[in-house]
Amino acid sequence: MSDCLFCKIREGVIPADIIFENDDVLAFNDVNPQAPVHLLIIPKKHISTVNDMVDDDQVIMGKLFSAARTIASQKGVSDDGYRLVVNCNEKAGQTVFHIHMHMLADRALTWPPG
Ligand code: 5GP
Ligand code: ZN
Repeated sequence: MSDCLFCKIREGVIPADIIFENDDVLAFNDVNPQAPVHLLIIPKKHISTVNDMVDDDQVIMGKLFSAARTIASQKGVSDDGYRLVVNCNEKAGQTVFHIHMHMLADRALTWPPG
């Protein structure tokens, strides 16, 4: 997707503070952090929204959770806790249409979210 911001980060065209990478997954710090730890975990494959997933994408989306577990451990927030969020479409607040999982940690997070 040539006009996709996160594909450009994956390609290295737009710089990002990369936290984690493997064959299928990339994670980088959010440019506008809402918590001391706020990063985005994305599949390298372009998928626009949860609605656009095909059945085979279950595997890759599972890998986002595996990456989250690894990153949480590396950041030392596993026991204190962290929040994983996936926004789908405008009313949920999705602004970048390459599916991504937010990881927020290192402060008390309220519920329900805004
Ligand atoms: P959404 O609102 O789609 O769930 O989340 C998109 C996130 O991407 C936002 O938290 C926003 O701060 C982040 N973001 C937008 N543009 C950039 C960018 O160029 N680089 C990085 N690292 N994050 C971005
Ligand atoms: Zn993309």
